[in-house]
Amino acid sequence: MTIAQRAERVRARLAHTGAEALLVSDLTNVRWLTGFTGSNGWVVLGPDQLTLVTDGRYGEQAARQMALAGVAAEVLVGATGAETQGHLAGLSRVHRTIGFEAAHVSVQQHAAWAAAFGCTLVATIGVVEAERRTKDTAEIELIAQACRIADQALAEVVPTLGNGLTEAQVRNQLEIRMRELGAVGPSYDTIVATGPLNAALPHHRPTDAVIEDGHTVIIDVGALVDGYHSDMTRTFVIGRPTPLQHELYELVLAAQQAGVAAVAAGLSTKQLDAVCRDIITEGGYGDWFTHGTGHGVGLLIHEDPFVNRAGDAILQVGDVVTVEPGVYREGFGGIRVEDLVVVTSEGCRVLTASPKESPCPPFPPTI
Ligand code: ZN
Ligand code: ZN
Repeated sequence: MTIAQRAERVRARLAHTGAEALLVSDLTNVRWLTGFTGSNGWVVLGPDQLTLVTDGRYGEQAARQMALAGVAAEVLVGATGAETQGHLAGLSRVHRTIGFEAAHVSVQQHAAWAAAFGCTLVATIGVVEAERRTKDTAEIELIAQACRIADQALAEVVPTLGNGLTEAQVRNQLEIRMRELGAVGPSYDTIVATGPLNAALPHHRPTDAVIEDGHTVIIDVGALVDGYHSDMTRTFVIGRPTPLQHELYELVLAAQQAGVAAVAAGLSTKQLDAVCRDIITEGGYGDWFTHGTGHGVGLLIHEDPFVNRAGDAILQVGDVVTVEPGVYREGFGGIRVEDLVVVTSEGCRVLTASPKESPCPPFPPTI
């Protein structure tokens, strides 16, 4: 019944926008509100009504998925684009004002609505997202399940590193295992980045580069389960770590562990970023840490709240965020450690469980 309660949460927030109803056009928001997973759909959410408008491919699916989610809503099917837009115009006309999602509507779409709707269009920003950010128990369990699948796939694939495998082969094995373990697929394009050049790129795409002795290898892997994502990074050193590899692994790990320990409701995302960044800066490598500390994860792999130097969000219970400091330099490679955590009333619960312990984990073990 949790999906059915979401419309009420959005209505309460909508009351502060000056709009009587909300026209939801972002498909992720539509899914979160209704349980409907099709690729064409709009929701009109009024004070006491919820209507989903979709095309002929999805009428039955929408009715079925919403019934399954316990959502009491009407479905209107448009046989053509014009008919669909006609339904939206009809639904909006009964209100004096209707909010639209400014971040998800094109200028062309807005002009068409302004001409067709007999009411005032009000730009809103992040109304559904502000509620979607707070995960309920069922959502957290799906994300935790996605984390467990990625943990298991990584545990199975790590022992094969350094046997002449390429980045792409390791990526393939991870993605196959995640599917076999019950994931719909990878949560995003799995990153396997090896050596002094590729591992220096935070979002390197796997190539035919062979993982060799002396390399740092960054593996960033997540699974997708029933629409929900997971996200985790581990870094390995092939063979005995050099003093610099060892020093930087310990530094990044210390920053990451301090970040996880600091996560708590009430902390700003800017403060969380500073916890990690200050440790790396004090270690002398601040300019090697070239990205933000983390981001929210849910129905999207990157969503609110974003954790970076400019982040002005305040962490709340139910936020699911990554903590992922890293250092990168061409000629050295890179190191990143990333966990996914859920903010609780006691601090946070870490959902990813792959080992990351100190000292720097060489592979295969040499000590
Ligand atoms: Zn990641
Ligand atoms: Zn991430």
